[in-house]
Amino acid sequence: MGGVGRREFLAGGAAFLSLAAEAELLAGPIPAGMAEAAQADRLASEVYFHEGQLSDTADAVCNNGWIILEDYVLVIDANFPAGARLIISKIRSLTDKPIRFAFDTHHHGDHAYGNQVYVENGAVPIAHTGVIEEMKRYETGYYGGQPGAWEEAMKGRADLKTTRLKPPSVLFPKDLIFDDGKHRVELMHLGVAHTHGDAVAWLPKERILFSGDVCVNGPYNYVGDGDVGQWVGTLEAARKLGAEIVCTGHGPRSVGTVLDDQQAFFKALREQVGALMAAKAPEDAKAQVEPIRATLKGNARIARYVGERGAGWDPFPSQVEKVYEELAGKKLAALGHEPRLARHAHARSHGMASA
Ligand SMILES: [Zn+2]
Repeated sequence: MGGVGRREFLAGGAAFLSLAAEAELLAGPIPAGMAEAAQADRLASEVYFHEGQLSDTADAVCNNGWIILEDYVLVIDANFPAGARLIISKIRSLTDKPIRFAFDTHHHGDHAYGNQVYVENGAVPIAHTGVIEEMKRYETGYYGGQPGAWEEAMKGRADLKTTRLKPPSVLFPKDLIFDDGKHRVELMHLGVAHTHGDAVAWLPKERILFSGDVCVNGPYNYVGDGDVGQWVGTLEAARKLGAEIVCTGHGPRSVGTVLDDQQAFFKALREQVGALMAAKAPEDAKAQVEPIRATLKGNARIARYVGERGAGWDPFPSQVEKVYEELAGKKLAALGHEPRLARHAHARSHGMASA
């Protein structure tokens, strides 16, 4: 079913369609003999989505998208090298057109470390200029300094030993547009969010947004490299696009309201930390972390963004710490180890320096 039919269908009152039902609706016919590619989700004509897996051992960690334009393929996010190889094989089962561009939505390893694999397959890594600025900050090993994020990530991922860091070499300061007359893809930096260099891919005709980690769908927000206050505004800019399908950086793909939900989570977090913690000294403020968690968990709309205490990677204390720091202008000393733990945990799966 094409984009228009789907929009009419949604306008007809099916906005609460379950994601599974929606996926079925959108799946459309899969070309014969392409069982592998069937795992990728066909969102519209020549527009695909692949959901990654946030684990230490997964090949494809971040979510991916790709658009088959008239003369070439544009891929959204390079993923880790093993993920890049997986996605390239899926694209190859669908089309012989050259893969020309791999767009890094930001600098983190799970989105950008597959760049060299794409180069070897004929593509050029492209990104917002902020990605290079972030890489210069964190990829100190590549830029001639101490070992940085890549060297740290190599300890945990074998696929990094088979390749090397390749920063994007085509950069855009604000936006970059691909338009073959049939498909239009607008790469846009909407502001500071998960990092200082995030950009999204917007398909205005199909009303599909590939958000990178500007928006996730689940308890996956790592806030250490961005700014939660500015992030709320960046999500507002994303909301204004009017997306009907949102492919987030991590977690199942969703609809436009996922942007509202993540924004509501950050707003509630800022309100709670502001009301209960910001005026308190760090040692007293710390006691509020669990009550705030309970309050946010009680809000059905945002509960899925709140980590579970003691579960694998629990990002919640580090999110509270970051917001406290932004609002109070000082570090929450009593939680001093939490941002470090969060960064370390995130590094294992996302390919980041844990220092
Ligand atoms: Zn990230």
